[in-house]
Amino acid sequence: MRYDIAIIGTGPAGISAAITGKIRGKSLLLFGNADLSEKISRAHRILNYPGLPDISGQELAENLKKHLQSMDIPVTQERVGAVYAMGDYFALQAGTSMYESRSVILASGVMHGKALAGEKELLGRGVSYCVTCDAQFYRNKTAAIISYNRETEPEADFLAEIAEKVYYFPMYENPPRVSDKVHVMQENPVAVKAMACEPEDLGTVKLEGVQTDSSLLEVDGVFIMRDTVPAHQLVPGLAMNGNHVAVNLKMETNIPGCFACGDITGTPYQYIRAAGQGNTAVLSAVAWLAAQDRKEK
Ligand code: FAD
Repeated sequence: MRYDIAIIGTGPAGISAAITGKIRGKSLLLFGNADLSEKISRAHRILNYPGLPDISGQELAENLKKHLQSMDIPVTQERVGAVYAMGDYFALQAGTSMYESRSVILASGVMHGKALAGEKELLGRGVSYCVTCDAQFYRNKTAAIISYNRETEPEADFLAEIAEKVYYFPMYENPPRVSDKVHVMQENPVAVKAMACEPEDLGTVKLEGVQTDSSLLEVDGVFIMRDTVPAHQLVPGLAMNGNHVAVNLKMETNIPGCFACGDITGTPYQYIRAAGQGNTAVLSAVAWLAAQDRKEK
Protein backbone atom coordinates (compact mmCIF):
# COMPACT_ATOMS: atom_id res chain seq x y z
CA MET A 1 0.00 0.00 0.00
CA ARG A 2 1.17 3.53 -0.77
CA TYR A 3 0.10 6.02 1.94
CA ASP A 4 -0.67 9.70 1.34
CA ILE A 5 1.45 11.02 4.22
CA ALA A 6 4.11 9.37 6.40
CA ILE A 7 4.81 11.28 9.61
CA ILE A 8 8.02 10.53 11.50
CA GLY A 9 7.74 11.37 15.19
CA THR A 10 5.12 11.22 17.93
CA GLY A 11 5.93 14.49 19.70
CA PRO A 12 3.50 17.43 19.57
CA ALA A 13 4.57 18.24 15.98
CA GLY A 14 3.89 14.77 14.55
CA ILE A 15 0.71 14.24 16.56
CA SER A 16 -0.71 17.59 15.50
CA ALA A 17 0.10 16.77 11.86
CA ALA A 18 -1.56 13.36 12.19
CA ILE A 19 -4.76 14.75 13.72
CA THR A 20 -5.28 17.33 10.98
CA GLY A 21 -4.19 14.88 8.27
CA LYS A 22 -6.87 12.46 9.48
CA ILE A 23 -9.50 15.23 9.52
CA ARG A 24 -8.52 15.97 5.90
CA GLY A 25 -9.21 12.34 5.02
CA LYS A 26 -5.65 11.32 4.13
CA SER A 27 -4.20 7.85 4.64
CA LEU A 28 -1.48 8.17 7.26
CA LEU A 29 1.50 6.35 8.70
CA LEU A 30 2.60 7.75 12.06
CA PHE A 31 5.98 6.42 13.22
CA GLY A 32 7.03 6.82 16.84
CA ASN A 33 6.79 5.38 20.32
CA ALA A 34 3.98 3.90 22.41
CA ASP A 35 4.92 6.51 25.03
CA LEU A 36 4.87 9.23 22.35
CA SER A 37 7.78 11.48 23.36
CA GLU A 38 10.06 11.49 26.39
CA LYS A 39 10.09 15.26 26.08
CA ILE A 40 6.40 15.30 26.89
CA SER A 41 6.25 12.63 29.60
CA ARG A 42 9.37 13.90 31.40
CA ALA A 43 8.14 17.47 31.78
CA HIS A 44 7.25 18.11 35.39
CA ARG A 45 4.67 20.89 34.96
CA ILE A 46 3.78 22.68 31.74
CA LEU A 47 2.58 26.23 32.22
CA ASN A 48 2.49 27.60 28.68
CA TYR A 49 0.17 25.36 26.65
CA PRO A 50 -2.96 27.44 25.93
CA GLY A 51 -6.12 25.95 27.43
CA LEU A 52 -4.21 23.42 29.57
CA PRO A 53 -2.85 25.45 32.49
CA ASP A 54 -0.49 23.70 34.87
CA ILE A 55 -0.74 20.25 33.29
CA SER A 56 1.92 17.62 33.99
CA GLY A 57 3.85 16.06 31.15
CA GLN A 58 2.37 12.64 31.99
CA GLU A 59 -1.16 14.07 31.84
CA LEU A 60 -0.50 15.77 28.52
CA ALA A 61 0.92 12.52 27.11
CA GLU A 62 -2.19 10.60 28.27
CA ASN A 63 -4.46 13.24 26.69
CA LEU A 64 -2.56 13.03 23.41
CA LYS A 65 -2.77 9.21 23.42
CA LYS A 66 -6.53 9.39 23.98
CA HIS A 67 -6.84 11.95 21.20
CA LEU A 68 -5.04 9.64 18.75
CA GLN A 69 -7.10 6.64 19.87
CA SER A 70 -10.38 8.55 19.59
CA MET A 71 -9.52 9.39 15.98
CA ASP A 72 -8.36 5.87 15.23
CA ILE A 73 -4.79 6.92 14.43
CA PRO A 74 -2.42 4.05 15.28
CA VAL A 75 1.25 4.60 16.08
CA THR A 76 3.60 2.40 14.06
CA GLN A 77 6.20 1.60 16.71
CA GLU A 78 9.21 1.34 14.46
CA ARG A 79 12.22 3.58 14.01
CA VAL A 80 12.64 4.98 10.55
CA GLY A 81 16.27 4.49 9.55
CA ALA A 82 16.22 6.06 6.10
CA VAL A 83 13.90 7.96 3.76
CA TYR A 84 14.58 7.83 0.03
CA ALA A 85 12.97 10.18 -2.51
CA MET A 86 12.00 7.91 -5.41
CA GLY A 87 10.47 10.51 -7.75
CA ASP A 88 6.72 10.30 -7.28
CA TYR A 89 6.88 8.65 -3.84
CA PHE A 90 9.15 8.09 -0.82
CA ALA A 91 10.49 4.74 0.38
CA LEU A 92 10.88 4.56 4.16
CA GLN A 93 13.03 1.94 5.77
CA ALA A 94 11.94 1.05 9.31
CA GLY A 95 13.48 -1.93 11.08
CA THR A 96 13.26 -4.76 8.59
CA SER A 97 10.25 -3.29 6.76
CA MET A 98 9.91 -0.91 3.83
CA TYR A 99 6.96 1.47 3.50
CA GLU A 100 5.83 3.73 0.66
CA SER A 101 4.26 7.13 0.97
CA ARG A 102 3.51 9.96 -1.46
CA SER A 103 4.72 12.60 1.00
CA VAL A 104 6.73 12.72 4.23
CA ILE A 105 6.64 14.94 7.30
CA LEU A 106 9.78 14.95 9.44
CA ALA A 107 8.82 15.60 13.08
CA SER A 108 11.54 13.62 14.80
CA GLY A 109 12.77 16.27 17.24
CA VAL A 110 16.37 17.07 18.03
CA MET A 111 19.07 14.87 19.44
CA HIS A 112 20.17 15.94 22.89
CA GLY A 113 23.41 14.89 24.45
CA LYS A 114 26.77 14.79 22.83
CA ALA A 115 27.82 12.25 20.24
CA LEU A 116 30.30 9.70 21.62
CA ALA A 117 33.95 10.60 21.21
CA GLY A 118 35.07 9.27 17.82
CA GLU A 119 31.50 8.73 16.56
CA LYS A 120 31.53 11.44 13.91
CA GLU A 121 34.96 10.50 12.55
CA LEU A 122 34.11 6.78 12.35
CA LEU A 123 30.62 7.14 10.86
CA GLY A 124 30.57 4.94 7.76
CA ARG A 125 33.91 3.41 8.84
CA GLY A 126 32.56 0.93 11.33
CA VAL A 127 29.96 3.18 12.98
CA SER A 128 26.40 3.02 11.62
CA TYR A 129 22.94 4.25 12.62
CA CYS A 130 20.95 1.57 10.74
CA VAL A 131 21.05 -2.16 11.55
CA THR A 132 18.85 -3.16 8.64
CA CYS A 133 21.00 -1.24 6.16
CA ASP A 134 24.40 -2.46 7.33
CA ALA A 135 23.93 -5.76 9.22
CA GLN A 136 25.12 -7.75 6.19
CA PHE A 137 28.60 -6.21 6.51
CA TYR A 138 29.03 -8.07 9.80
CA ARG A 139 28.26 -11.60 8.64
CA ASN A 140 30.33 -13.91 10.84
CA LYS A 141 31.94 -10.87 12.47
CA THR A 142 31.57 -9.14 15.83
CA ALA A 143 29.32 -6.13 16.27
CA ALA A 144 27.98 -4.00 19.09
CA ILE A 145 24.77 -2.03 19.49
CA ILE A 146 24.59 0.98 21.79
CA SER A 147 20.87 1.58 22.11
CA TYR A 148 18.95 4.44 23.68
CA ASN A 149 15.51 2.92 23.04
CA ARG A 150 13.74 -0.41 23.35
CA GLU A 151 12.57 -0.40 19.73
CA THR A 152 16.07 -1.59 18.77
CA GLU A 153 15.68 -4.93 20.58
CA PRO A 154 14.23 -6.85 17.57
CA GLU A 155 17.05 -5.42 15.45
CA ALA A 156 19.60 -6.81 17.93
CA ASP A 157 18.00 -10.25 17.51
CA PHE A 158 18.13 -9.84 13.72
CA LEU A 159 21.82 -8.84 13.84
CA ALA A 160 22.58 -11.85 16.06
CA GLU A 161 21.29 -14.14 13.28
CA ILE A 162 23.92 -12.72 10.91
CA ALA A 163 26.93 -11.74 13.03
CA GLU A 164 29.05 -14.20 14.97
CA LYS A 165 28.76 -12.20 18.17
CA VAL A 166 26.58 -9.25 19.16
CA TYR A 167 27.13 -7.10 22.26
CA TYR A 168 24.19 -4.96 23.38
CA PHE A 169 24.56 -1.86 25.55
CA PRO A 170 21.10 -0.84 26.81
CA MET A 171 21.24 2.86 27.66
CA TYR A 172 17.76 2.83 29.18
CA GLU A 173 16.04 1.62 32.33
CA ASN A 174 14.61 -1.92 32.65
CA PRO A 175 16.41 -5.00 31.37
CA PRO A 176 16.28 -5.54 27.60
CA ARG A 177 14.27 -8.42 26.13
CA VAL A 178 16.65 -9.85 23.56
CA SER A 179 17.46 -13.38 22.41
CA ASP A 180 20.04 -15.52 24.24
CA LYS A 181 22.42 -15.00 21.32
CA VAL A 182 22.80 -11.31 22.25
CA HIS A 183 25.32 -10.50 24.99
CA VAL A 184 23.85 -7.78 27.19
CA MET A 185 26.57 -5.50 28.56
CA GLN A 186 26.48 -3.74 31.92
CA GLU A 187 29.38 -1.39 31.15
CA ASN A 188 28.93 2.19 30.06
CA PRO A 189 30.29 3.09 26.59
CA VAL A 190 32.25 6.32 26.59
CA ALA A 191 33.85 6.38 23.12
CA VAL A 192 34.27 4.55 19.85
CA LYS A 193 37.96 4.08 19.19
CA ALA A 194 39.86 4.10 15.93
CA MET A 195 42.76 1.76 15.16
CA ALA A 196 46.14 3.39 15.47
CA CYS A 197 47.39 4.45 12.04
CA GLU A 198 49.99 6.62 10.31
CA PRO A 199 49.08 10.34 9.94
CA GLU A 200 48.77 9.95 6.15
CA ASP A 201 46.18 7.17 6.64
CA LEU A 202 43.88 9.27 8.86
CA GLY A 203 41.39 9.63 5.98
CA THR A 204 40.81 5.87 5.92
CA VAL A 205 40.88 5.26 9.64
CA LYS A 206 38.96 2.16 10.85
CA LEU A 207 37.08 1.23 14.00
CA GLU A 208 38.94 -0.69 16.69
CA GLY A 209 36.15 -1.06 19.22
CA VAL A 210 33.95 0.38 21.93
CA GLN A 211 35.74 2.00 24.86
CA THR A 212 33.71 1.49 28.02
CA ASP A 213 34.30 2.88 31.49
CA SER A 214 36.27 -0.29 32.30
CA SER A 215 37.67 -1.84 29.10
CA LEU A 216 38.12 -1.71 25.33
CA LEU A 217 35.77 -4.14 23.59
CA GLU A 218 37.11 -4.99 20.14
CA VAL A 219 34.38 -5.14 17.49
CA ASP A 220 34.18 -4.90 13.69
CA GLY A 221 31.17 -2.61 13.76
CA VAL A 222 29.08 -0.58 16.15
CA PHE A 223 25.48 0.58 15.71
CA ILE A 224 24.47 3.65 17.70
CA MET A 225 20.69 3.74 17.98
CA ARG A 226 19.40 6.99 19.44
CA ASP A 227 15.84 8.20 19.75
CA THR A 228 16.55 10.58 16.93
CA VAL A 229 18.74 10.07 13.88
CA PRO A 230 20.27 13.34 12.59
CA ALA A 231 17.89 14.58 9.86
CA HIS A 232 20.49 14.74 7.09
CA GLN A 233 21.41 11.10 7.83
CA LEU A 234 17.74 10.13 7.68
CA VAL A 235 17.03 11.81 4.34
CA PRO A 236 19.93 11.94 1.85
CA GLY A 237 20.10 15.34 0.10
CA LEU A 238 18.09 17.22 2.75
CA ALA A 239 19.20 20.87 3.04
CA MET A 240 20.17 21.92 6.55
CA ASN A 241 20.49 25.26 8.26
CA GLY A 242 23.22 24.49 10.78
CA ASN A 243 21.92 21.59 12.89
CA HIS A 244 18.30 22.13 11.83
CA VAL A 245 16.31 21.26 8.73
CA ALA A 246 15.94 24.28 6.44
CA VAL A 247 12.24 25.05 5.85
CA ASN A 248 10.17 27.93 4.51
CA LEU A 249 7.00 29.26 6.16
CA LYS A 250 4.97 26.41 4.60
CA MET A 251 7.31 23.94 6.33
CA GLU A 252 8.56 22.78 2.93
CA THR A 253 12.10 21.39 2.75
CA ASN A 254 14.27 21.49 -0.38
CA ILE A 255 12.87 18.07 -1.39
CA PRO A 256 9.44 18.30 -3.06
CA GLY A 257 6.84 16.40 -1.00
CA CYS A 258 9.04 16.40 2.12
CA PHE A 259 8.03 18.72 4.97
CA ALA A 260 9.48 19.27 8.46
CA CYS A 261 8.11 20.67 11.72
CA GLY A 262 8.85 21.05 15.41
CA ASP A 263 12.22 21.14 17.16
CA ILE A 264 13.89 19.65 14.09
CA THR A 265 13.43 23.01 12.32
CA GLY A 266 15.03 25.12 15.03
CA THR A 267 14.51 27.06 18.24
CA PRO A 268 12.62 28.00 20.38
CA TYR A 269 11.99 24.40 21.42
CA GLN A 270 8.39 24.66 22.59
CA TYR A 271 5.29 22.43 22.48
CA ILE A 272 2.99 25.03 21.00
CA ARG A 273 5.45 25.94 18.25
CA ALA A 274 5.90 22.25 17.41
CA ALA A 275 2.13 21.63 17.34
CA GLY A 276 1.53 24.75 15.22
CA GLN A 277 4.20 23.80 12.73
CA GLY A 278 2.81 20.25 12.56
CA ASN A 279 -0.54 21.70 11.56
CA THR A 280 1.06 23.91 8.88
CA ALA A 281 3.20 21.05 7.56
CA VAL A 282 0.29 18.67 7.07
CA LEU A 283 -1.90 21.31 5.41
CA SER A 284 1.00 22.03 3.05
CA ALA A 285 1.31 18.29 2.38
CA VAL A 286 -2.43 18.08 1.64
CA ALA A 287 -2.13 21.01 -0.81
CA TRP A 288 0.95 19.43 -2.41
CA LEU A 289 -0.86 16.09 -2.89
CA ALA A 290 -3.81 17.90 -4.52
CA ALA A 291 -1.42 19.71 -6.88
CA GLN A 292 0.22 16.39 -7.82
CA ASP A 293 -3.22 14.88 -8.51
CA ARG A 294 -4.11 17.82 -10.77
CA LYS A 295 -0.85 17.36 -12.69
CA GLU A 296 -1.59 13.67 -13.28
CA LYS A 297 -5.05 14.39 -14.75
P1 FAD B 1 9.76 15.57 20.19
O1 FAD B 1 8.80 15.86 21.29
O2 FAD B 1 11.20 15.48 20.52
O3 FAD B 1 9.26 14.20 19.54
C1 FAD B 1 9.98 13.56 18.53
C2 FAD B 1 9.53 12.12 18.48
O4 FAD B 1 10.02 11.50 17.29
C3 FAD B 1 10.02 11.25 19.64
O5 FAD B 1 8.98 10.45 20.10
C4 FAD B 1 11.07 10.35 19.00
O6 FAD B 1 11.19 9.11 19.63
C5 FAD B 1 10.47 10.19 17.60
N1 FAD B 1 11.46 9.85 16.59
C6 FAD B 1 12.66 10.44 16.40
N2 FAD B 1 13.30 9.87 15.38
C7 FAD B 1 12.50 8.89 14.93
C8 FAD B 1 12.62 7.91 13.89
N3 FAD B 1 13.73 7.87 13.12
N4 FAD B 1 11.62 7.03 13.71
C9 FAD B 1 10.50 7.07 14.50
N5 FAD B 1 10.34 7.98 15.49
C10 FAD B 1 11.31 8.86 15.71
N6 FAD B 1 8.21 23.10 25.94
C11 FAD B 1 7.23 23.97 26.31
O7 FAD B 1 6.64 24.64 25.47
N7 FAD B 1 6.87 24.07 27.64
C12 FAD B 1 7.44 23.33 28.62
O8 FAD B 1 7.07 23.44 29.79
C13 FAD B 1 8.46 22.41 28.23
N8 FAD B 1 9.05 21.62 29.18
C14 FAD B 1 9.98 20.72 28.79
C15 FAD B 1 10.54 19.89 29.76
C16 FAD B 1 11.51 18.95 29.42
C17 FAD B 1 12.09 18.05 30.48
C18 FAD B 1 11.95 18.87 28.07
C19 FAD B 1 13.02 17.88 27.67
C20 FAD B 1 11.40 19.70 27.09
C21 FAD B 1 10.41 20.62 27.44
N9 FAD B 1 9.83 21.47 26.48
C22 FAD B 1 8.85 22.33 26.85
C23 FAD B 1 10.24 21.42 25.05
C24 FAD B 1 9.34 20.44 24.27
O9 FAD B 1 9.40 19.23 24.92
C25 FAD B 1 9.78 20.29 22.81
O10 FAD B 1 9.88 21.56 22.19
C26 FAD B 1 8.75 19.43 22.04
O11 FAD B 1 8.57 18.18 22.63
C27 FAD B 1 9.19 19.28 20.59
O12 FAD B 1 8.25 18.51 19.94
P2 FAD B 1 8.60 17.71 18.60
O13 FAD B 1 7.32 17.08 18.18
O14 FAD B 1 9.30 18.59 17.64
O15 FAD B 1 9.67 16.60 19.00
